[in-house]
Amino acid sequence: MLSYQHHYHAGNLADVHKHAVLSWVLNYLTLKDKPLSYIETHAGRGLYDLASDAALKTGEAAQGITLAEGWFPPDHPYRQRLMETRAAHGPQAYPGSPLIAALGLRETDSIHLAELHPQEVQHLRATAAPWGAHIHQRDGFELALALTPPTPRRGLMLIDPSYEVKADYDAIPKHLANIHRKWNVGILILWYPILTGAPHASMLKSLVDSFPDGLRHEVRFPPARDGHRMEGSGLFVINPPFGLDDEAVWLGNQFKTHYQSVATGPR
Ligand code: SAM
Repeated sequence: MLSYQHHYHAGNLADVHKHAVLSWVLNYLTLKDKPLSYIETHAGRGLYDLASDAALKTGEAAQGITLAEGWFPPDHPYRQRLMETRAAHGPQAYPGSPLIAALGLRETDSIHLAELHPQEVQHLRATAAPWGAHIHQRDGFELALALTPPTPRRGLMLIDPSYEVKADYDAIPKHLANIHRKWNVGILILWYPILTGAPHASMLKSLVDSFPDGLRHEVRFPPARDGHRMEGSGLFVINPPFGLDDEAVWLGNQFKTHYQSVATGPR
């Protein structure tokens, strides 16, 4: 079942949370003149049009990046990726995580992206053609296991499933443990939604038990519309790089200031 399509949700507050952290980590890793591997298990189409019917239908970007962009100083890596995306693709363009990676990385770095949805992967191939990225229309976890440990060994994996079925929550801790076993130096960033009823709770408990040094960071915000179940956004990072704790506190404070809600501190 593949009914989820990210273009309805691109640029929402969960994307702001995830993409700000992703941009920061990539920027940190590229401060060192050593190549790295970027692997993404659930890539989406890579580039979004916030003026599309889908984006306007939900209005999530209007309540997301449109309001939140000013939280970030102009030299913040996320803000820079936003500006570069608009300069290349127009004022309503919004970068998905693959484009954030492509913009933040160097020619010496490698990019592998998995996307299963036929329409999304077609868009992704068109967008990513100039980047020299490897695009795989394949299950993301299957690809992750096949590619790890990657060359170069230094690097980052973003795991951003659509959680369309409850079984995803049960399977993820096992997938992460298997990937970590094969690639113990890789930075693994998992995104999860915080929904009414907290269906993520047992997954998270299992992750925290298995990876006590992982960085857990959650932000809360009002649901995008009446009846919408998403109340927040979470990230669980295995092998968090130095300084991410501080960045997470700063980012959490931006959400807290604007939504007077509690952002769970890291760790
Ligand atoms: N990471 C993207 C970003 O931040 O721009 C958004 C990705 S979206 C949340 C999740 C994507 O995973 C969807 O495009 C969906 O088609 C894709 N997908 C769903 N199941 C998949 C699977 N088993 N393997 C790879 N991709 C999958």
